[in-house]
Amino acid sequence: MKDFLKLQEDSTLRAEELLPEAGINKKREISRLIFEICKRDGLEPKQILSGEKIKNFEQAKKSLLALRYPLSFSKAPASSYYLPKLDLQALPDAEIKQEEFYPKNLFIEKEVLNSPLAKRALDLFPKAKLTVLEKKTFCGSPNYSKRKENLVIIKENFDFIKPCPCTKNCFCCGYNLVNLGFGCAYECSYCFLQQYQNLHAVVLPANIEDFLSKIDGAKLRKGPFPHIRIGSGEFTDSLLFDHITEYSSAIVKFFKGRPEYFEFKTKSANIGNLLKLEALPNIVIGWSVNPQNIISSAEPLTQPLKNRLAAAAKAARHGYKTAFHFDPVIIHENWRENYLKVIEEIKNTVPAESIAWISIGTLRFSRELKKCIESRFKDNKILDGEFLLDFDGKMRYPKTLRKEVYQTLGPALKKAFPQTYVYLCMEEADLQI
Ligand code: SF4
Repeated sequence: MKDFLKLQEDSTLRAEELLPEAGINKKREISRLIFEICKRDGLEPKQILSGEKIKNFEQAKKSLLALRYPLSFSKAPASSYYLPKLDLQALPDAEIKQEEFYPKNLFIEKEVLNSPLAKRALDLFPKAKLTVLEKKTFCGSPNYSKRKENLVIIKENFDFIKPCPCTKNCFCCGYNLVNLGFGCAYECSYCFLQQYQNLHAVVLPANIEDFLSKIDGAKLRKGPFPHIRIGSGEFTDSLLFDHITEYSSAIVKFFKGRPEYFEFKTKSANIGNLLKLEALPNIVIGWSVNPQNIISSAEPLTQPLKNRLAAAAKAARHGYKTAFHFDPVIIHENWRENYLKVIEEIKNTVPAESIAWISIGTLRFSRELKKCIESRFKDNKILDGEFLLDFDGKMRYPKTLRKEVYQTLGPALKKAFPQTYVYLCMEEADLQI
C-alpha cells in the first residue's frame, strides 16, 4: 500500500513551499487539494503546479480546484467545495478481518437477562465475558474498529418505528423503519455508522414484540407503492445477525395476513431461518447490489454478488418476494458496463416476478464522514470521485453525473423488469426516472 501518511506530510511541505507567506487555514486548503490530486492520479506533491509561477493563494487554489474538480470547476459555487484540515491519523485504521462474529464481551441488561435472545447469546458465545447491566451505561469500545468485541443486549424503550427521515427537498418513496439493532459486523468503507454510532458495540434489542406491537397505531408513511412498506436495516444489516436474534421468525409470523409489506435489507446470505418458515407474499428480502469489483474494494466482509444473488434465487423459489437496491452506486472506470452487467446477472438468476421493487441511489455522505473514511480507509478509491456539498448539505457527485447514472440504469432496469416498481432513493424530485 502507498504510504499515505508520507503523502500527507509531503503535501503539507509542498503547500509551505508554494505559499510560504499564507496563513495556516489557507495552507491547509492547499495541502488538502495537493494530497487529493496526488492520491487520485498517483503523482508526487513536488509535481503539482511545478511549471506555474504562483503569485498568491487565490491563484494557487483556483489552479488546484480546476485539477481536482475538472467536471465541476467553473460551474459549482465556491461554497460547495469542502476542504477540511487533512488528518489521516485522526482515527485508527479499519480492521478488515474475515472472521465469524464472536464477541469477547457480552453485556446484558438485567431486565432482559431471561429473554430468549439473551439465552441464545449465552449459548452461542460461552467464552464471552458476561456483564449484567443494572441500567443503561457505556459498554462499548473507545475504538469503532473494535465494536465487534462487544455485544450488548438491551430492552428498547423508545425507538420502535418511524418514517424514513429521507433528506430535505427529495422525492419521498414512502418507507418506514424499525430499528432492530445498532452496529454492524461488516466494514463498508462508505458506512455512515463509523461517524454516527456513538456506542462502539453491536446492540441488539431483546424485546422484538414491543417493536411489532407498536406498528398498529403508528403514523406510517405511504409512497407511490400500493402498500405501506416497513423495513429494518438502517443501523445494521437486517439479516447478518439473524442466526442469533431470530427476529425474522417473529416478523414473518406477525405479518401473516397483514396489509403492509416488510423488507429485510441485507448484504448477507443469511436466510437460513427464513427458509425454515412458510414464505408470505408480503415479506420481501432486499439485497443491496454492486459490481463485484466495488464489493471487493468498498464492501469488505460482505457476501460476494454471486452469493447474494444465489440467496435471492433461493428465497424467491421458497416463495418470498425479493428486492434490489443499486445503492450506493459508485462511479468508477467502466461503471456503465459493470452496473448493466449486474442487471443482467439479476435477470439471469432471480425470477423477475419475485422482484417487488428496485431502488437506485448514488453515493452520498455527510461532510463529517469524509474525514472518517479517509482516516480509516486510507487507500480508499471512493473519495477520489468528485463530491460537492449539495442541495441537502450532503456530499454528492455533480448533478450531471447523477443524472447520467439514473438515465442509464433506470431505463435498463425498467426494460429488464417491466412489472417491478423502480425508483430513486434520496434524490431530487427533478431527477426522477
Ligand atoms: S452493511 Fe450497511 S450497516 Fe453494515 S457496514 Fe455496510 S453499510 Fe454499514
